Amino acid sequence: MAAPAFRLPPLPTIREIIKLFRLQAMKQLSQNFLLDLRLTDKIVRKAGDLTNSHVYEVGPGPGGITRSILNAGVSELLVVEKDIRFIPGLQMLSDAAPGKLRIVHGDVMTFKIEKAFPESLKRQWEDDPPAVHIIGNLPFSVSTPLIIKWLDNISQRDGPFTYGRTQMTLTFQKEVAERLTASTGSKQRSRLSVMAQYLCHVQHVLTIPGRAFLPKPEVDVGVVHFTPLVQPRIQQPFRLVEKVIRNAFQFRRKYCHRGLGMLFPEAQRLENTGKLLELAEVNPTLRPGQLSVSHFKSLCDVYRKMCDEDPHIFAYNFRDELKQNKSKNQERG
Ligand code: SAM
Repeated sequence: MAAPAFRLPPLPTIREIIKLFRLQAMKQLSQNFLLDLRLTDKIVRKAGDLTNSHVYEVGPGPGGITRSILNAGVSELLVVEKDIRFIPGLQMLSDAAPGKLRIVHGDVMTFKIEKAFPESLKRQWEDDPPAVHIIGNLPFSVSTPLIIKWLDNISQRDGPFTYGRTQMTLTFQKEVAERLTASTGSKQRSRLSVMAQYLCHVQHVLTIPGRAFLPKPEVDVGVVHFTPLVQPRIQQPFRLVEKVIRNAFQFRRKYCHRGLGMLFPEAQRLENTGKLLELAEVNPTLRPGQLSVSHFKSLCDVYRKMCDEDPHIFAYNFRDELKQNKSKNQERG
């Protein structure tokens, strides 16, 4: 007979926990809490089936999402929280879910989840995703750099992706969620859209109004689900891809040749940009937002060849040149 599904026993509400442990949100840490457990259940359902999974929750705070994850039949939940004030409240949850909740007082930017879960969870990259999930509602100032770091990890199959194609369900400012999932040609299309979509299947699965949080943030919140692709749509090093995309989008309203030109030193800029666009078969008068992931694939492949032929090209960064010119002008007085 199957073991009965685990449910947390009756506990004080999140509002009561906040009062009990004096967990006023710290504005400077951009803390906004979810109190409605129906809403946290809904977020957690968007992560997919968590039965018998190992879940890594980033930034649990007073534990609303944490409770919903514990009630979803997980095998183990590991939470990493930076603010020590939340640890006693989380400890109370751990006591209510014996053997299920591991609490780490630490920083998600440096925590090594690849060492925390059993080796036996590892799957081949080409297999179905492993029974490992990442879930979190972090401050927006943390979630964007963190997703860039994790995209880099996906490209190298390390960090949380040592286990295979670990799925992630994360919150962002609604506008960032829209950028992450924007299709070619749409108004929100940006650097983040291409970075995320060349490595992952990305879905904006839920929008939560700001009023659902305490205190209420200025903006609404989007929940985004990421599943790493078996085959990245661009097969070049992350740093190279990031550089091409960043340059392409730096003059958003101009034709794409303007930004892409900045990949090359000024002396051969015109010639090299022409060569790049011609060999990649990309129309120079498309705007950056009109470039598809396949356009970027061709651009990155050709740029890679040009860098292999002349390594100075990859080392070149036009912002350094700008800085040098500025200081030369200052010296001249
Ligand atoms: N997840 C909770 C919720 O939905 O109610 C709290 C959300 S609050 C926006 C973000 C939480 O992330 C806070 O508890 C904060 O202390 C924590 N946090 C912020 N930066 C962090 C970091 N670098 N590492 C770990 N936790 C962090």
